[in-house]
Formats: sequence, C-alpha cells, structure tokens
Amino acid sequence: MGGPAMSQDRSDQGHSSLVISGLRAGIDGQEILRGIDLDVASGEVHAVMGPNGSGKSTLAHVVMGRPGYQIHAGTITLDGTDLSPLAPWQRAQAGLFLAMQYPTEVPGVSLADMLDAALRARGRDPGDLAEVVRVEAERIGMPPALLTRALNVDLSGGEKKRNETLQLALLAPRIAVLDEIDSGLDVDALRIISRRVEALTGEHDVGVLVITHYSRLLEELHPDRVSVLSAGRIVATGGPDLAEELEQTGYVGYEQVGYEQVGEGQVGAGQVGEGQVGAGPRGNGQAPAGAAGEV
Ligand code: ADP
Ligand code: MG
Repeated sequence: MGGPAMSQDRSDQGHSSLVISGLRAGIDGQEILRGIDLDVASGEVHAVMGPNGSGKSTLAHVVMGRPGYQIHAGTITLDGTDLSPLAPWQRAQAGLFLAMQYPTEVPGVSLADMLDAALRARGRDPGDLAEVVRVEAERIGMPPALLTRALNVDLSGGEKKRNETLQLALLAPRIAVLDEIDSGLDVDALRIISRRVEALTGEHDVGVLVITHYSRLLEELHPDRVSVLSAGRIVATGGPDLAEELEQTGYVGYEQVGYEQVGEGQVGAGQVGEGQVGAGPRGNGQAPAGAAGEV
C-alpha cells in the first residue's frame, strides 16, 4: 500500500508546515469560511479559538477533505503540495491527522484493527502493536477493555476523546488538527490529554492546529500562537496571552457581522451571548455555550 519511501522514523522527514491561504469554502452552496490565512509548522501549537458556529469544524473538515465541502478560493498546502485534489486517506498518508469533534462510530472494527491498517497504509511496520497500544493506553488512563471494542461505538464523549488521542500518539502525524478534543472531558482527563498532545510536539515534532471554544485546554497544551475565528474569518492573531484575554472577556469584542447581515447595532452591543455571533443563516440556535457537558 504506502509509498516505499515512508519510514517509521519520523525524524528523517524534516520540518513540515501546513499553510492555509485565502481559503473560502463551504457546504451546500453556503460559504462558511470567508477568507482564512493560517499556518502551523512541526513542533508548534497554533490554537484556533472561536464561538459556536464560527466555522471551526468546517475548517477542520475542509482541511481534511471531507466529501461535500467545496473550496471556492484559496489553497491548503502541506510542505508545498496542494492538498485539494487529494482524498482524505491520501491526506492522511501525506501526514495529516484529524481528531473530529464527533468521532465516527465504526461497528465491527476495533481500535487495534484500525491502527494496524493505518500504520501499514503509511508504510510503517506495526511491530508489536498490542504492546505499544497497551503502554500508550495506560499513559492516558484508557481502560484496556476499550481497545478491543468496536471503534467509538457506545463510548462516552470522554472515552472517544481518549481514543482519538491514542490514535494521534500512535500515528505521530506531521500535522494534527484537533477539533474540540477537550469537549466532554472532566478536568483530570483534560489535563492528561493536553499533556500527551504537548509531549507529542516534542517527542515526534508534531505540529498541532488545536481548535477549541474554551481556553482551559490551553492551560496545559501551551500554544505558540492563538488565532480567533469569528463568522468564518480570522479576526485576531496573537500569542498565548490572547487565550488568557478570551478567558476573561469571552468573545465580546472579537465579533464580526455574522454570515447574514446582522443589524449594525448588534455587533459589540454589550453582552452578546456566546454562540450568537455567526450562528448563521439557518438560525437554528446551534448548541448553546455549555456544549462541554456532552459526556
Ligand atoms: P463551529 O465548529 O465553530 O461551531 P461549524 O463549522 O460547525 O462551527 O458551523 C459553522 C456554520 O456553518 C454554522 O452557522 C452552521 O450552522 C453552518 N453549517 C454547518 N454545517 C452545515 C451544513 N451541512 N449546511 C449548511 N450550513 C452548515
Ligand atoms: Mg465545531
């Protein structure tokens, strides 16, 4: 399957970077991302923060090439290679990894089966996979029984996130996109998972684009840069202090006119509830701000 040049030793692959420029994209004829410039390189953590409905998951899906999404303008490249013609599995082979906000349930396939196939597809020798997985599972406090169960089927929110983290650690991609890997986690689990991801940036030089609504994830997974997404646009970029500021003030002040022309008076009109900005043309109210109670 995989290219013969692929090697299990990631250290020979040098420095990688994912570069998104001028990206406009959407789904069903609806433009959701309205001009995104963003990049992340090996060993770096770039956090993308934004309220509900701002386009965070859309960004993750478009980067991974999920069917149904259309790119209207701009480019996404990994080490200079345009990803847009590539299917999701080809992007994964090229070194991208996506931890989805809502991981897919795969009846009949265990985590071990999936990892074995994924490693082989990358031209890497799974070796003593069972032992490696056992050690890794222990490291993130994942019960061994979960390893042999069908992938994500009937798992709690927190278990699914541990599952995603274990895959991430085993595959050690060049660049990982983590969409709300913190949702549904209690404080202890959040700490364990953030630390594991942080360690991967050092151990395997993984570059991480970490997408989150809440800054608490970033207390353990320390971002080098923070960008704020609002209504499909990056409206601010800064250092870790930007996440701290958002912790204090929420997204008030970083709001833009939503997808539809929201009345002028609404922007910056004091206490705008989280999740309101960019809640979108469907006006479906989205998940309210407390989406973290998902377990
Ligand atoms: P976030 O992850 O930041 O909460 P999403 O990327 O899920 O935001 O959604 C961004 C906007 O796109 C929202 O207004 C949402 O309603 C809209 N949207 C998401 N999926 C679809 C879809 N399949 N069809 C139309 N609009 C969608
Ligand atoms: Mg989302």
